[in-house]
Amino acid sequence: MTERTLAILKPDCLDKRVQGKVIQHILDAGFEIKAMKLTKLTEDSAKKFYEVHKERPFYGELVSYMTSGPVIPLCLEKANAVADFRKTIGATNPANAEEGTIRKMYADSIERNIVHGSDSPENAKNEIAHFFNDSDIV
Ligand code: ADP
Ligand code: MG
Repeated sequence: MTERTLAILKPDCLDKRVQGKVIQHILDAGFEIKAMKLTKLTEDSAKKFYEVHKERPFYGELVSYMTSGPVIPLCLEKANAVADFRKTIGATNPANAEEGTIRKMYADSIERNIVHGSDSPENAKNEIAHFFNDSDIV
């Protein structure tokens, strides 16, 4: 059964100009792109997106990093998309990410880690709806 997940290419991905390589990596891993856009998060939107982390010490920095430049959210589809995409991106801290994962290949730090991936099918649904209307999804 196919499943959907939300990816975000974060501001450091675009700063480094590796968004094309990361999108190719995602396609090579077998994901279908069902929706994609170039956008910039407002502070309110970033705060809402990361609301689950609002008590964490890094919340303020995370919001300012995520609003520091444009991002590319993507709705991805594949069998087992949520878990498989987490495997494709690797551990939150790139120092702990497996070889060949996107974070291992491109990320510099636990904060500036290139890409977001939903962590459960339920969160994926809400996160996709944060960026896309049903009519945006092909
Ligand atoms: P993931 O993105 O792997 O699901 P989390 O949901 O735990 O990781 O954290 C959300 C984002 O917050 C991370 O991707 C990263 O950008 C940032 N972050 C997580 N942990 C830290 C930390 N200890 N210090 C700074 N930033 C962090
Ligand atoms: Mg997370």
